[in-house]
Amino acid sequence: MQWKEIATNSLILKNYELFKKSGVLDYIDETHSNNKELEDLLIEANEIFRQETVDELINLIIHFLAEKFIPSNMVFILNEGIMFNRIKTIVCRNMKISNDIIVIESLEPFEQFFRTYRGTTSFLILENEMEDTGLLAPFVPYKPRIVVPVLGISGLYGMIFFGEKVLGEDYDTREISYIDKLMNFTSIGIQNTIHYEHSVRDSKTGLYNHNFFIHRVNEQIARAKRVQKPFSVILMDIDNFKLFNDSYGHLAGDEVIIQLSKVLKRALREGDILSRFGGEEFTILLPYADKNEGWNAAERFRKTVEEMETKYQENILKITISLGIATYNYHEKINDITLLKRADDALYKSKKTGRNKTTSFKSGLLTKAQDMDYNESNQPSLK
Ligand code: GH3
Ligand code: MG
Ligand code: MG
Repeated sequence: MQWKEIATNSLILKNYELFKKSGVLDYIDETHSNNKELEDLLIEANEIFRQETVDELINLIIHFLAEKFIPSNMVFILNEGIMFNRIKTIVCRNMKISNDIIVIESLEPFEQFFRTYRGTTSFLILENEMEDTGLLAPFVPYKPRIVVPVLGISGLYGMIFFGEKVLGEDYDTREISYIDKLMNFTSIGIQNTIHYEHSVRDSKTGLYNHNFFIHRVNEQIARAKRVQKPFSVILMDIDNFKLFNDSYGHLAGDEVIIQLSKVLKRALREGDILSRFGGEEFTILLPYADKNEGWNAAERFRKTVEEMETKYQENILKITISLGIATYNYHEKINDITLLKRADDALYKSKKTGRNKTTSFKSGLLTKAQDMDYNESNQPSLK
């Protein structure tokens, strides 16, 4: 039965005063608004779980909170590294993300506190219980009143500070209960986005991993067939990298791989997907590139790397890369594996014909490269 039907029921109307005096009507009213609040919260939770990045999620939370009450400031401290420290801080002033940066190295000193206080807690309690209150100094300018931990499978993922309300008065119990519930969902949402990022990225370079790349290549194959347009993939490999490691050490090699990732990332065009294939090999998906555009892009990457310099200790290190390109033609019936094998054959030819080179796949390419291999003494040297 709907509340409207009950309210207009003649029996109720006849005994209206009695019901009112007994408090039944107030009780129904309160239950009604509690239900509405929970319904709204479920809708909000649904939206929270649909966000793909932490930034999107935080913007959504700000939007929800702005509809209820306005905390002057909010500070999000999140460890995106999970197993190691990679702390991200986001500061909202007057419900807008600001450029403020809070330097904090690790969440470890806070773990003990949140093992005891697992929910929404007053900032005063945190101040009283922390041994080293100096660690809280960076938050004080934001006038924190409430702190909420982001707790999950891997322990403490982060903490969220709520500054005083814009009008200065304290949060009431209803608001704290709402924050508590919303933050429970937010915690899970934040963990989801952090774990998702880890599942699609390579930890050394922060680039996408091979699984993600293959997933996107398959999406492109389906799209290319539908719209009858080509796309290209590039496979690239650092030249003589074994010799490089032997000469400068593996740590210098790692530094170069990290620098190379940054440089390539900057050289991408919108929509390009760069991933670490493994070791010193990288792949790039160029969603709209035909053979010609694929070639131009590959040459752009090759030249950018040729000019790259990595400072390591007192050395300025330089490397070159070789590249192979394969273009997907929608009328051919080939799959992701064949397409990458073609790029690999083209890369093989670049290696066999001198390195620091780009080759596009053509049928019969491999036979020619193997003939060359047979004739050539291919001794590596560092330039
Ligand atoms: P080529 O020009 O034919 O590619 O020669 P190469 O020496 O690069 O090829 P090879 O496959 O013989 O060696 C690849 C080297 O890359 C060996 C391996 O130690 C190094 N390598 C792969 N991944 C990493 C990494 O993450 N860090 C470092 N420092 N070296 C790596
Ligand atoms: Mg290799
Ligand atoms: Mg190599």
